[in-house]
Amino acid sequence: MMNDILLKNAYGLFIDGKWKVKNSKLLVLNKYSQEVIAEISIAEEQDVNASVAAAKKALNTSFSPYDRFRVLKKASELLLEQKEGLADVLVQEVGKPLTESIGEVERAALTLEISAEEAKRIHGEGVPIESAPGSENRKAMTIRTPVGVVAAITPFNVPLNLVCHKVGPGLAAGNSVILKPAEETSLSALLLAEIFEEAGLPAGRLNVLTGEGAEIGGYLTSNQEINMYTFTGSPRVGQIIRESTGIRKVALELGNNSATIVHRDAAIKESAVAAAQKSFNNAGQVCISVQRVFVHQDIYEAFLEEMIKAAKALKVGDPADASTNIGPMIAAKEAIRVENWVDEAISQGAQLQVGGKRDGVFYQPTILTNVDQEMKVCRNEVFGPVVAVDTYREEDEVIEKVNNSEYGLQAGLFTNDLSFAMKAAEKIEVGGLIINDTSGYRVDHMPYGGVKKSGTGKEGPKYAMEEMTEEKLIVFQS
Ligand code: NAD
Repeated sequence: MMNDILLKNAYGLFIDGKWKVKNSKLLVLNKYSQEVIAEISIAEEQDVNASVAAAKKALNTSFSPYDRFRVLKKASELLLEQKEGLADVLVQEVGKPLTESIGEVERAALTLEISAEEAKRIHGEGVPIESAPGSENRKAMTIRTPVGVVAAITPFNVPLNLVCHKVGPGLAAGNSVILKPAEETSLSALLLAEIFEEAGLPAGRLNVLTGEGAEIGGYLTSNQEINMYTFTGSPRVGQIIRESTGIRKVALELGNNSATIVHRDAAIKESAVAAAQKSFNNAGQVCISVQRVFVHQDIYEAFLEEMIKAAKALKVGDPADASTNIGPMIAAKEAIRVENWVDEAISQGAQLQVGGKRDGVFYQPTILTNVDQEMKVCRNEVFGPVVAVDTYREEDEVIEKVNNSEYGLQAGLFTNDLSFAMKAAEKIEVGGLIINDTSGYRVDHMPYGGVKKSGTGKEGPKYAMEEMTEEKLIVFQS
């Protein structure tokens, strides 16, 4: 099944509705076995320029809102029909456990379905300009028009659904999209292009360029025909894109060192199990992974005991095995980086409660206590299966600790204390605060995006489409 999928067209570039196989190739590894599972083409500057030209040309062909709805809906259905094969690809190219991989395909299908629905709801608003003295004989409204050519650059960790979060709204809003997926995990994006082809997407509306990020990214950002860049990935690359695109539109979905507060009235076992699950799923390689937990002193010991128990119950191993909870990290060098940060924290006084071991590309689920918020495992984004558990006594103290971060994507707060929840809602500096769950909660139609170094702009198809359209004012005079 998998070979059929991988060997079809999955190693070419997708430009102007055609597959173009290049001589220079990038190897895609199975992240568990480290075997090569595919060779994909490396795009050159001429391919980037051909994609931009095709994308621009496609904007002149009719693609009505209802046609966009039909294509996106069909693509969503095809994704579901191919759920098992696509999940298998995610298991291999990401190392994501099977149940999570199936969940990602289902969510990707939903993201496209929501985008399809939103394609029928693009609208501006009436503007009461007649209320201005001298404008009594005028009426005005706004309309939303596509920005044009959108370049989408995506990360390795959720390669199918995060691609759908850009391609879905981009197409629904009437744009043409040029997609540059992460080099480690480009296969699922190429398979998605095949699905769009089968769903009847007009040529040039979606182009997929694979290869090295820095090189293709440079060609993309220097091409002045591109109207908008939508990027999900690291703050380092986000900054490069922001600085190299001048005054063009840029949406950035970046990293975080997400905090979750467990207040003294929280349900101890439930919150501990949820925190462990969201610290370690996808081996901690999730932008809203629980990385910093702040537990009220009154329940700290009991919470820690439950969280350690939950972490120890997680099965680390082959992601293709349905009973596995935690698979390999994306690359051995990332596991080594995590190992170094944990070792450094321990040398600085942190206490290892569980985990702390690396085996090749695997890193064991790790809980640290007695941490200092200046340690790398707290201050930086770990993007690995490591969580630092700290304590607090006062509400204002913990709010300050959460805000003592360069990042601000999402945070969690377990409490039924309404006044604390209200205070936290106002004061915690994040794009989203999740009450009675961890920072790791997300459904695909909610507005999602960060403040501070976590980025600018929102995703969730409705919100992404606001970013991917221009609001144009029309004034009528009688
Ligand atoms: P990354 O920044 O290394 O790579 C992301 C993409 O950028 C890849 O496609 C890569 O090829 C490309 N790229 C690399 N250099 C480039 C350059 N100079 N110009 C243009 N593009 C370039 O990130 P990653 O390691 O793939 O993903 C992990 C990061 O993504 C973490 O920081 C994580 O928090 C973040 N992330 C954020 C969200 C969110 O929604 N906020 C979601 C998932 C991941």
